[in-house]
Amino acid sequence: MTLAIYDTASRVVKAIQSQNGVTSMYCCGPTVYRDAHVGNLRTFLLSDLIRRVIEVTGGKVELIQNITDVGHMSVDVIGEDKLLAQATAENKDPFEIARIYEAKFHKDLALLNVMKADNYPRASESIDLMIAMITDLISKNFAYIGSDGSVYFDSKAFVSYGNISGNRLEALKPGHRYEYSDESGKRFHADWALWKTAGERTEMIWESPWGFGFPGWHIECSAMSMHLLSDHVNVHVGGIDLRFPHHENERAQSNATTGAETVDLWVHGEHLLFEGRKMSKSSGNVVLLSDIVSRGLDPLSARLCFLENRFRSQMDLTWSALEIADAQLDKWRTKTTLWGASTEFKVDLAFLEAIELDLDTPRALQRLRLIEKSSEISDSEKRAIFIYADKVLGLDLTRPALVRGISIEQQEMLDARFIARSEKRWSDSDALRLALEKSGLEIKDGASGQEWSWR
Ligand code: AMP
Ligand code: ZN
Repeated sequence: MTLAIYDTASRVVKAIQSQNGVTSMYCCGPTVYRDAHVGNLRTFLLSDLIRRVIEVTGGKVELIQNITDVGHMSVDVIGEDKLLAQATAENKDPFEIARIYEAKFHKDLALLNVMKADNYPRASESIDLMIAMITDLISKNFAYIGSDGSVYFDSKAFVSYGNISGNRLEALKPGHRYEYSDESGKRFHADWALWKTAGERTEMIWESPWGFGFPGWHIECSAMSMHLLSDHVNVHVGGIDLRFPHHENERAQSNATTGAETVDLWVHGEHLLFEGRKMSKSSGNVVLLSDIVSRGLDPLSARLCFLENRFRSQMDLTWSALEIADAQLDKWRTKTTLWGASTEFKVDLAFLEAIELDLDTPRALQRLRLIEKSSEISDSEKRAIFIYADKVLGLDLTRPALVRGISIEQQEMLDARFIARSEKRWSDSDALRLALEKSGLEIKDGASGQEWSWR
């Protein structure tokens, strides 16, 4: 079997393709004007998971992830570039802002065991590529210079517009949610800017055949992916919000330039909620990886939580799920240490089959739990299977578990339970056991008295 994933465009589960033995992947990267929140990280982990599955079965991957440091305009404030707005807010140079958040993005990925992409091209350093593509699109009559001097893509010239999202041009109403209100020079409301004239703007602008200006957001991904992946992308990954218009427009630009279908498979990860709510700055509900770390939790507990859910389902991350995942990681690491020290690995077909069929990670984890508890599988074999599974899951399952001390409250409860037992107050003893278990400990009453371990 080979990995097959649901393709948003054709709406079926499709096998991953490759060219000359290499699968080319492109994952839309962060807009580096703020810290990535755990939702963004869920999407970045999706491309890492796909890459790991391909590689564990002997395939090769070339992965590109762009860094958006110019041209991503706010949909809420007219003409506001997200980076420039943050630069003003922090009283810093916009490029300094970009480098600060870009470095933080790489730090987060490292904490999550995300394997490095082959290239992280920056939009601001790929302006020539974009200008070349826009020039080509104008010459092929897919783009035009608008009445305001900006260059626009002519959406009506691209007949299969809407294939990914199902949004047909004729059904798109003027002023739809994603339309930028500063694009006054276009001929048709569903067209979009490839190059914007500088106007009053003085920062982050470049010279072009159409005067000083800056690129639109969508063109960067087309220009970088086509250039770096030789005009063809086997797997394109992003969050579900990018399906329209970002990916729809990207597809139109790339296909119009090359004259071919440029992407084989569009993979979209569903969004993450936190404690039941959408993550947004305005509602104060944004959780970062650093928040998880400062609560004393392993950052990989977030990775495990994501794996407990299908990538195509919206998921709700909670503090209690993170705590449970953290304890689970401890438990698995303790067990893999107890199971021996061999570095051998063993393929488990049922585990692999679950992952390869549309990345069914919950089923794959269920399989691992079955193996963990089996009395028919030897300890060394269990360890070998866990080592193999970890190549896909990236959870550091063979890292020695941290020996964590217990808190003062837990010690007090243990002392109280000791006294309750010696005084034969069994219901008090049971209540304390429950409280201790709730706090993450496992209590065993043996010949030598009560013993505790982390669950
Ligand atoms: P941005 O930095 O805003 O350009 O977003 C980076 C990636 O995160 C994109 O692929 C988005 O689709 C994705 N994304 C944004 N919000 C969420 C969320 N709540 N859950 C999962 N992915 C998200
Ligand atoms: Zn993109």
